[in-house]
Amino acid sequence: MTTTRLYYPEAYRASFDAHVLACEPLEAPPATPAAYAVELDATAFYPSSGGQPFDTGTLGRARVLDVLDSEDGRILHVTDAPLAVGEVVSGAIDWSRRFDHMQQHTGQHVLSAAFEGLFANRTQSFHLGAEQCTIDLAREVTAADVRAATDEANRVVWEDRAVTVRFVSAEEAALLPLRKEPARGGMLRLIEIADFDLSACGGTHVARTGGIGIIAVSGWEMLRGGSRVQFLCGARVARRFSVWRDALAAAMKHLSVAPEELAPAIERLQGGNKALQRALRATQEKLAVHEAKALVARGVRIGQRIVVVESVPDMDGAGLKAMASAAATEPGAAVVLVTATTSPLVVVACHPDAGIDASAVLKAIIAQFGGRGGGQPDLAQGGGLDASSPAVVDAARNMLSP
Ligand SMILES: [Zn+2]
Repeated sequence: MTTTRLYYPEAYRASFDAHVLACEPLEAPPATPAAYAVELDATAFYPSSGGQPFDTGTLGRARVLDVLDSEDGRILHVTDAPLAVGEVVSGAIDWSRRFDHMQQHTGQHVLSAAFEGLFANRTQSFHLGAEQCTIDLAREVTAADVRAATDEANRVVWEDRAVTVRFVSAEEAALLPLRKEPARGGMLRLIEIADFDLSACGGTHVARTGGIGIIAVSGWEMLRGGSRVQFLCGARVARRFSVWRDALAAAMKHLSVAPEELAPAIERLQGGNKALQRALRATQEKLAVHEAKALVARGVRIGQRIVVVESVPDMDGAGLKAMASAAATEPGAAVVLVTATTSPLVVVACHPDAGIDASAVLKAIIAQFGGRGGGQPDLAQGGGLDASSPAVVDAARNMLSP
């Protein structure tokens, strides 16, 4: 039996009484809570369809978890408790959820009609999400298009125009200037926003456009030759405003600037940071040359060779390489420097007079401790060693001091 849909004539109906026609336990995976499919002779619960999500609420003491529109015209309520067939049950809809859907859905009609009316940019699909609503438009939009369409849509919202519903046959509909082509034949339900929009739709809508409150576009992106526009309506705008206000206030507090100064202030910070990094690198290189002299002075002379093996705290890979290379300019120097970190980095640098192949030394270290790396006879570097810094230093000393 077809369920009478109370939400069609009465979108603002939040409670109702109905007879329970059927109640069947639903097959569910083990360890999931029991669920039942309940059929009523009439319902105000909206089932998921046309891009609008289902209503939640209660039927008697049972909670309504989902509402499905079956192909044969019945509406099935998925509940967490069984209901007795034949009894009269009172239904109550979670009104804040439903009214939010009505605001978003009617707002979508107005916004889509604005894009189409101003720019002949047709809406191809609509998504009403828990956080975000989107329309996909046939063509790309510019920032100026978005501003103009939003202004036009809000003008219509604040003129508080009537939103009316009527049913027509497919033949009658064919003669009408519908914005959205009907997806099915038979009797069609038309939603008209006075002197602004006419489209076929099975969803729930506010009675006057003023009920939408406000329409705001939160972003847009190009998509397959068209564009996807993210928007929100009514109470969602106020909630999003609070979230963005707090985020903005926190950022402004850090930077001590007005909102419109935030982006340039971040750019300046990033520029300053890059300049600091360049200066730090230059200073490290100078320091490396200076330190290299001290390293060589502490080196152990073995014939013509000066062996320098040390662990260097507070130095990154680039600094280590600069320091080792500078030390290896000393004739006869064979230098191994290791960072004082866990999983240390190692750089081997050799003067040609030392008679040692830096890459061979590195290979021997990696063979002993693991890790990766490579290089040339004068300079080689590696990392990811599975050893402590002192263990690598000891091993390298033994290799270079036979
Ligand atoms: Zn609609």
